[in-house]
Amino acid sequence: MKLQENLEKVSIPFDVYKVREDFPILKTTVRGNPLVYFDNAATTQKPISVIERIRKYYEQENSNVHRGVHYLSEIATKEFEAAREQVRKFINAEFKEEIIFTRGTTEAINLVANSFGKTFIGQGDEIIISEMEHHSNIVPWQLLCEETGAKLRVIPFDDNGELILDELEKFLNERTKLISIVHVSNSLGTVNPVKKIVEIAHSYAVPVLLDGAQSIMHQKIDVQDLGCDFFVFSGHKIYGPTGIGVLYGKKDLLEKMRPYQGGGDMIKSVTFQKTTYNDLPYKFEAGTPNIEGAIGLRAAIDYLNEIGLENIAQYENELLNYATEKLSQISNLKLIGTAKSKGPILSFILENIHPHDVGTILDYEGIAVRTGHHCTQPVMEHFKIPATTRASLSFYNTKEEVDRLVQGIQKVIKVFS
Ligand code: PMP
Repeated sequence: MKLQENLEKVSIPFDVYKVREDFPILKTTVRGNPLVYFDNAATTQKPISVIERIRKYYEQENSNVHRGVHYLSEIATKEFEAAREQVRKFINAEFKEEIIFTRGTTEAINLVANSFGKTFIGQGDEIIISEMEHHSNIVPWQLLCEETGAKLRVIPFDDNGELILDELEKFLNERTKLISIVHVSNSLGTVNPVKKIVEIAHSYAVPVLLDGAQSIMHQKIDVQDLGCDFFVFSGHKIYGPTGIGVLYGKKDLLEKMRPYQGGGDMIKSVTFQKTTYNDLPYKFEAGTPNIEGAIGLRAAIDYLNEIGLENIAQYENELLNYATEKLSQISNLKLIGTAKSKGPILSFILENIHPHDVGTILDYEGIAVRTGHHCTQPVMEHFKIPATTRASLSFYNTKEEVDRLVQGIQKVIKVFS
């Protein structure tokens, strides 16, 4: 083994206080209190290396890609394509052509619904999703069903927030054309057994899309090991810019799928008689792409690699256990989402206090949490609640911040008692 490879295997000790120095926004004070940012499932903060990389792009490299023969265009194209290669490595896809840049998770799912859907799904066919999906993994399929006459089947979850997998086997049949399922739930925190789901689906020759919006930042993703046919995520949830995301798709499937949008870059030739489409991945990237987004995403991936996803997973898990224990000690507090395998997401309700009031009082303490249905209304419906308060953690959060959350919640309870 080469020295470099050896060094990569050595786990660097994780120092959260040092890591926090990389994120300028964490020094913000809110109404006189140091900011506690616990809304990481909505979007993550950006390290200085990402911010500076985008600045460098506009100061020294800005140009359109794939078109010009001039110096700047060559640099921008090289950097844009290097970002694609970095994403490929990050998720261990086999081919660079399997990485398609999108606006985010939502657009990636819409792309598959429109392209795969309109190529392979018709009247009477079935698509399987689950009861814990984000709206962006429900509505595109509902739109497709409306257009094609296909049907949605929904795998339920139990009161801990664990999928009832026996139901999946009951749904699978020769009409099933796709399973589209969330890897980690954004409102319950549940980590779904996606490898097992892929195995079951493939035994029926059914392809699987994994919504990785909430898994990609917490654990090492290896799409070949997972065996999934599509994997989607957003740059802004892994410390990169907004407006950029990724659709990974197996090459043989993507090749058979019709384009999603028409325009520049996605064609080989255009005449009024016949237009031929470009090769992968460009067939699915119509128009000028989000160049700064892709380049910023690469910087975010570089940053995560530097910290080490294993370090991140270990630290976040420790923080999750600490927060779960502390929150569980508060009487009147009920955790929503108590699956055995969880990402660092804590949704909860307080007896007789509306989550919006909880969020508002916590904000006065400088603590940013999310309140609402988190774009998962069917999850709220399951528990017969209108909303939850959600604290979602990142590797830059600390146990002291969890303690401040606990004190903040105690203050809320006092105000309403
Ligand atoms: N799926 C899940 C599980 C999510 O958490 C989110 C974002 N909250 C999305 C999809 C949509 O991601 P985006 O808004 O970045 O497209």
